[in-house]
Amino acid sequence: MKKFFAVSVCMFMLLCCACGPARPAQITNTDTAMGTVIVQKLYTADSQGRAAQEIMELLGKLETQELSRRLDTSEVWNLNAGAGRPEGCTVSPSMEEILAGCLDMWHKSQGAFDVTLGPVVELWDIDGWAAGENGEDFSPPEDRQLAEALERCGAGRMELREGVLWLPEGMLLDLGAVGKGVAMDRILSYLQGNNNITGAIISLGGSVVTYGSKPDGDCWKVGIANPADTASIVGTLMLEGEWFVSTSGDYERYVELDGVRYHHIIDPVTGRPADSGIAGVTILAGNGFLSDALSTACFILGEEKGMALAELCGAEVLFVSTDGRITMSRGMEAYFETAE
Ligand code: FAD
Ligand code: MG
Repeated sequence: MKKFFAVSVCMFMLLCCACGPARPAQITNTDTAMGTVIVQKLYTADSQGRAAQEIMELLGKLETQELSRRLDTSEVWNLNAGAGRPEGCTVSPSMEEILAGCLDMWHKSQGAFDVTLGPVVELWDIDGWAAGENGEDFSPPEDRQLAEALERCGAGRMELREGVLWLPEGMLLDLGAVGKGVAMDRILSYLQGNNNITGAIISLGGSVVTYGSKPDGDCWKVGIANPADTASIVGTLMLEGEWFVSTSGDYERYVELDGVRYHHIIDPVTGRPADSGIAGVTILAGNGFLSDALSTACFILGEEKGMALAELCGAEVLFVSTDGRITMSRGMEAYFETAE
């Protein structure tokens, strides 16, 4: 069995050095949150500033107080614990907005994107196997187990109305597909409210947010990993100002058994790792939630339907197929440079 736990390989930040005395200082910080590696490059007039630390604190709070399904301190944990309550559970305004966005994406993706897949995600526990936490003896769930878990899923069965969520008993929310996107939106708000910061590029595993500009005027360069060899890239996005880039790939978290790769992105129809001929999808959007949700949805839908969904949502998309073909939306071409 081969295991793989890629926390940050799917994105590379390619930055030129800032130099010259009048320029803002560059602060680089690497840390972990939400099960992934966070790399920050900030250009700031306040070289002693606490910005990088404050961003990590923001991410820590988002995970522990709001989004984690694993921690009993979070709102998602409480909502899951409240599944089956006839009176439902009160949700915070920010959680209501997140869940409404998830339901919207569920509709638009015709059910491919579904944050109620928690029971199936837990049954596979690809995160645990990929991280080596479950030992060496991986075997895929049995059909009967999958069928039982799938019976407890389905975003159409949850109800969200006026700040109250009703989840049928046994259901489990898992916001792994949008957590980094929500985090990127929060980070952008933080950056916009900090007058010292003139530019930033922050990578959260497979997701990148850019802000402002570099002191030397060069653009932000975000590499797109080659799924067949994650030490290399298929190309680079050349970006100016505020952007969100999210990638979903079958190489991010997976286990291999008998030559079959079992990855972490689930097709809600089968309850098994999605098999749409796609190895990696990258979304470029003006909003973090959208870029993250769409990258997951487009991975499951595949090229044709995924392209239509991205267009419907006003985002750009690039697919790398399992046989190495690259296809992208028209708008993406303006930002993409093929690797030499
Ligand atoms: P994406 O494509 O963005 O998302 C894939 C993830 O979405 C899957 O892992 C699953 O969780 C979910 N999913 C699968 N299929 C679907 C579907 N059809 N529709 C909707 N969602 C789907 N990892 C750890 O190993 N340990 C941790 O403690 C940990 N804590 C986390 C806390 C938070 C708040 C978040 C946001 C993530 C955490 N993670 C942790 C990582 C998490 O479990 C996922 O692996 C990760 O978010 C996947 O992100 P991605 O960008 O690679 O893939
Ligand atoms: Mg996603």
